[in-house]
Amino acid sequence: MAVRRAKRSTTNDRNRGESGEQNEMNTELHQLFLEELADIYNAEQQVTKALPKLAKAAQNPELREAFESHLEETQNHISRLDQVAKSLGESIKRKKCAAMEGLIEEGEEIIDELEDSAALNAGLILAAQKVEHYEIASYGGLRAWAQLMGHDEAVDLLQETLDEEKAADEKLNHIAENFANEEARQE
Ligand code: ZN
Ligand code: FE
Ligand code: FE
Repeated sequence: MAVRRAKRSTTNDRNRGESGEQNEMNTELHQLFLEELADIYNAEQQVTKALPKLAKAAQNPELREAFESHLEETQNHISRLDQVAKSLGESIKRKKCAAMEGLIEEGEEIIDELEDSAALNAGLILAAQKVEHYEIASYGGLRAWAQLMGHDEAVDLLQETLDEEKAADEKLNHIAENFANEEARQE
């Protein structure tokens, strides 16, 4: 009898230990989720300031239109992030995304250095695709964590934005391909 009781209590202790670790993991993942939410929120705000510069520099109407329409989408991405935070009963912290600052700086260098170059559009596309890939990585990660934590509304919101970032990247691929084909025809 005594042995059985001891055995049972050992099992219970172990279960308690595991769920304790699980709780700690959830709390820490939740904190990290909020940090990354703040990071991409700031990144998106930076993007809304950079896209008009890219649109202005673009030497092709299709490319300019792509930047302008992604600006509108980006504004929606920001309000979706507010909705994500709200769905968790949280608000978004202030944070600076250093990576986006660097990516945008590179874009500005391209504009300055290739101002009169035939390769300007190609440079703008690459700069914008680097931005999209950073966003795709962030939203992909956030979406996966939201799923892991069972935040279903957040999953849907993050997925919507993730799809739009991927579509924006694809659109830039197509525009780049069109340019390349156009040049091949002209040669
Ligand atoms: Zn975005
Ligand atoms: Fe960042
Ligand atoms: Fe984007």
